[in-house]
Amino acid sequence: MSSAHRIVIVGGGICGLATALAVARRGHAAVVLEKADRFAEIGAGIQIAPNGIHALRELGLDATTSPITSLMDELRFMDGVTGEHVASMALTDEYQKRFGYPYVVVHRAQLHAELLAACQESELIDLRTNAAVTGYRITGYGAVAMLRDCETVAGAAVIGADGIHSAIRRQLVHDGDPIVSGITIYRTTAPMETVPADLLLPASVTAWAGPKWHLVHYPIAGGRLLNLAISLDNGATERYAGVPVAADEVLAQFPQACDQVARLLALGEDWKTWMLVDREPVQRWTDGPVVLLGDAAHPTLHYAAQGACQAIEDAVLLGRLLDGCAPEDFAARFAELSKLRRDRTARVHDFAHRTIEVWHPAGDAARERNRKLSGLTGHHMREFISWMHSPQSSSLDGYEYQAPLAVHS
Ligand SMILES: Cc1cc2nc3c(=O)[nH]c(=O)nc-3n(C[C@H](O)[C@H](O)[C@H](O)COP(=O)(O)OP(=O)(O)OC[C@H]3O[C@@H](n4cnc5c(N)ncnc54)[C@H](O)[C@@H]3O)c2cc1C
Repeated sequence: MSSAHRIVIVGGGICGLATALAVARRGHAAVVLEKADRFAEIGAGIQIAPNGIHALRELGLDATTSPITSLMDELRFMDGVTGEHVASMALTDEYQKRFGYPYVVVHRAQLHAELLAACQESELIDLRTNAAVTGYRITGYGAVAMLRDCETVAGAAVIGADGIHSAIRRQLVHDGDPIVSGITIYRTTAPMETVPADLLLPASVTAWAGPKWHLVHYPIAGGRLLNLAISLDNGATERYAGVPVAADEVLAQFPQACDQVARLLALGEDWKTWMLVDREPVQRWTDGPVVLLGDAAHPTLHYAAQGACQAIEDAVLLGRLLDGCAPEDFAARFAELSKLRRDRTARVHDFAHRTIEVWHPAGDAARERNRKLSGLTGHHMREFISWMHSPQSSSLDGYEYQAPLAVHS
């Protein structure tokens, strides 16, 4: 395939690989440029709601039957200080009837490995590592990605799927470095056999909410490991990522945690910490034959558990838009894509921020939150998140913007 036809994808994370598959399925050749020396994913668990499952299915990956995914029965909300069970949203009968699919969790590395294997099988996809891209240049017939070692990779288009620190975005949007969120996250996994029987919830995504923090845990790797991630709004200003931290140090950050949370935190041995960074939604995702997708276009706090789902939706929609499309029309289809995706992804970004009001209050505000949440019926809860979890409301099948729902009503 000549470079005049192929699509250059910068970044080999979930979005980049999903995009390569999506365009290859529509007959377009792609080269994926990954800066690391191998294709890999950092971090452990990832939740995939029905909208993500629907999108993955179009790429040939059935997350409902895959051995790498675990089906969840409930989203469980606990008070992390008093230990009380506040509310649960069932993910079984009515939920699956409403959204057409179950809710699953998966080990990130396994999802990434499945996408990678599918890319490796495709004759239309070329995968390159040690290919750090510094920017792009628009040419007469498309665009070229410029690599750190002065090499260039030419194509009919360049897709920036290079994450929140995207080099393509830096040039295209000019909005500099991501914003330091002031939220620190600690992540680890623990062997399931070490989890005390009273804390064993094999089919539950459980959240424990405390003052300015919340812990989320769920089983991954076919139930062999418990994924633990605790977020703390401590106003930290330093940027760091994936730094090992002692278990004692993690525990010391949460003096108000109830006994169950303290015991869960004590399970983790190899904690790592990240300062979460963020960006505001932007209108501009394209520059002619160059487009941003995934976290490069619309990074969001993890509180809605939707970043990867949205990245996969982007990829699938792009594939649909490029069906039967000649290279000279790529730019117009990219503009169409960003028009279709901007509102939905901005709404997820907004929703994730608003949920901080639910996760992090203390004292009376926490009690009031518990009172309201415990009064919600399953129907209320499903309708509250239907705009996000429903495959039909994704822009894949035509999406219309609705004003964000108030978290406190
Ligand atoms: C704690 C946490 C929990 C989360 N939980 C969920 C969840 O439950 N469900 C969900 O849907 N989402 C979740 N997310 C969000 C999800 O992880 C991201 O939205 C998703 O991984 C974004 O994928 P991406 O491919 O766009 O970006 P990335 O994963 O950042 O991948 C970018 C890739 O590009 C490469 N790269 C970067 N720069 C360059 C360059 N200059 N040249 C070449 N290559 C480059 C990188 O090495 C990387 O491989 C969570 C996020 C966090 C932080």
